[in-house]
Amino acid sequence: MIATMRPDATLKEIADTVRAIEAFGARTIITRLEERTLIGIISKGAKIPVDLIREMQGIESVETSDEPFQLVSRQFHPRNTIIRIGKSKVGDGGLAIIAGPCSVESKDQILTTARYCAVAEVTLLRGGAFKPRSSPYSFQGLGEEGLRLLAEAGKDVGLPVITEVLTPETVELTTEYADVLQIGARSMQNFKLLEAVGQCGRPVLLKRGMHATIEEFLLAAEYIYTYGNKEIILCERGIRTFERYTRNTLDISAVPVLKQLSHLPVFVDPSHAAGRRELILPLSKAAIAAGADGLMIETHPDPDEALSDGSQSLPPEQFSEAIGDIRRFFQAVCGNEK
Ligand code: PEP
Ligand code: MN
Repeated sequence: MIATMRPDATLKEIADTVRAIEAFGARTIITRLEERTLIGIISKGAKIPVDLIREMQGIESVETSDEPFQLVSRQFHPRNTIIRIGKSKVGDGGLAIIAGPCSVESKDQILTTARYCAVAEVTLLRGGAFKPRSSPYSFQGLGEEGLRLLAEAGKDVGLPVITEVLTPETVELTTEYADVLQIGARSMQNFKLLEAVGQCGRPVLLKRGMHATIEEFLLAAEYIYTYGNKEIILCERGIRTFERYTRNTLDISAVPVLKQLSHLPVFVDPSHAAGRRELILPLSKAAIAAGADGLMIETHPDPDEALSDGSQSLPPEQFSEAIGDIRRFFQAVCGNEK
């Protein structure tokens, strides 16, 4: 439910409305829309006497959204959310690029990657320290040591870093090292984790679950938002279909659908979508053409020796070439309108 205040509503009227709503057991979240203040009402089952709220001083309307998600919807926040990360802005009409290895493996590996990623002027350096692996026998990541190596490499080359967080208990530790926290596809509906990153004070990149509908994806983002974190990036990374030639099926239509339904920035991860490095460039171009705000690409100094996801990681030279092609393509497609 969203309460819209009149343009001439006073601060006292806004505060009184918030207090009244919270007295009925709901939580509130406020956003500014042009000259109006909107109050998102998070009822969590609490009964809100809508007619009573409608009668309050300074109220223009109280509406329930047609969609199950509210705060992440364009109705609540019509303008694009822009997120500041380091020196860059995400969602401002430019193209952000997240790049790095699937896993942090060693000091040398992550530092080498960080160096050529910095030369390619990427927005964020990625690297997993806590890895969600399908098999218990696979490399599970270096844990806190991986976080430390990633943070050091980022600092060394002047890039902010992103890494996946797997459990609510490790959220606080991860915020000590990372500029952005990643919620992986397998964790998209780990509601306790969403609650924890909702309060972590860092931007969050939320990946779409491989079996999640767009509605479920946006409801997961809504969880994070309701806990107070408004800095959420949505990342389409392919969904599971009957197709086996690619690791997943990139749902390219999710990009414009998400852009229409939500104000949050939308990224595409062609590496996990395809599972094959030769598809990274064409899928990146498709993502740009569909309106993506950014890309997440895996790269490794020596993909054949990678401890995870080598086949979908670009080696340094191919990576630098691909980034050049991607930037030229973006300029050609979006250069004039953005
Ligand atoms: C990853 O980014 O390395 C990863 C595990 O991605 P996903 O959650 O999309 O599978
Ligand atoms: Mn990976």
